[in-house]
Amino acid sequence: MPATRICVLCLVDGKQDKKRDGLAEGGTVASSAAVLEKPRCRVGTTLGLVEEAETGPNQTGPTDGRAGLEEEGKHASFRYPQGSCLEQNNHRIWLPKLGWVRYRNSREALGAVKNVTVRLAGGRWLVSIQAECEVEVPVHRSTTAVGIDMGVVRLATLSDGTFYGPRNSFRQHQAGLRKAQQSMGRKKIMKFSQNRKRAKARLACLHIRIANARRDHLHKASTAISKSHAMVCVEDLRVSNLSSSAAGSRQSPGSKVRAKSGLNRSILDQGGAELRRQLEYKPAWNGGRLIAVPAINTSRTCPACGCTGQGNRKTQAGFCCVECGYEAKADLVAAINLGRAGLARIACEVNDGVSRQQQEPTSVAA
Ligand SMILES: [Zn+2]
Repeated sequence: MPATRICVLCLVDGKQDKKRDGLAEGGTVASSAAVLEKPRCRVGTTLGLVEEAETGPNQTGPTDGRAGLEEEGKHASFRYPQGSCLEQNNHRIWLPKLGWVRYRNSREALGAVKNVTVRLAGGRWLVSIQAECEVEVPVHRSTTAVGIDMGVVRLATLSDGTFYGPRNSFRQHQAGLRKAQQSMGRKKIMKFSQNRKRAKARLACLHIRIANARRDHLHKASTAISKSHAMVCVEDLRVSNLSSSAAGSRQSPGSKVRAKSGLNRSILDQGGAELRRQLEYKPAWNGGRLIAVPAINTSRTCPACGCTGQGNRKTQAGFCCVECGYEAKADLVAAINLGRAGLARIACEVNDGVSRQQQEPTSVAA
């Protein structure tokens, strides 16, 4: 049976001539539109503006009725709900009031174009095209189930033994970031100087590069996982809870704040929340499904004999069962347990369905 799927697609960008149009770091919605009017474009592409799709162009101004000043480039995005026209063969798109704008295509937009969102990111203009098309409900080509443990040392460990290493894009650029931030900090006095603008653009570029590297790594991992396994079981954890600060309050200050802060940086550098978000839709695209199971004791239970206890984890990385002597890496053990917990949950759902079906005739007979 055909289902409707809305794909958020591809995009574009025009790298603007910063020297000529003075709006290098953004501007209001209206002024950003003006920049696109001269399409000196080099077009780039990226995926998905799903989050931004939630905030419409009408929500970009101050909401309390004040005509306040906005931070420069903060809401540099606007959407065309209609009136745009896409010519993919010619690599150009018609945007109302702007006319034809050239772009570099990342992927084909299938189906009817529903809306177009333009945004400015790191000095580049990106265009997201949301299209609607009918797709068959897919059947996954694989029949395997896999548990995934996400961590800091390894981004993801799968219960079949494969793993995806960390990308650490933030850590890699930390020194460069510090340098760029300090450089911008020194130019605070001349707030509107060209030097400050240049320093700000350099910093923004660095942030974009870090985010792009991380996103690329996560997309590759989540695509590979979703294509290889029909069922994906993950811990039901919130990364925001994991990475909460240990600082405490003034009355009751926390301990090991600096160490926790470093750990938090590493946790957030992996992008576990983003990987989880991608795993929520990618398996479904391939006909698979994601199951979130409670994380309690998953890394302390022995997969061989079922013994659960703190003693099984003598070290952070290793697992050694006190009952049967089973030894393995702790993240692999957690992944195996998660996979089993997911299968058990599925079995419960199936059993529930069967028992309900069995009950119905008896109630009718009674
Ligand atoms: Zn054991």
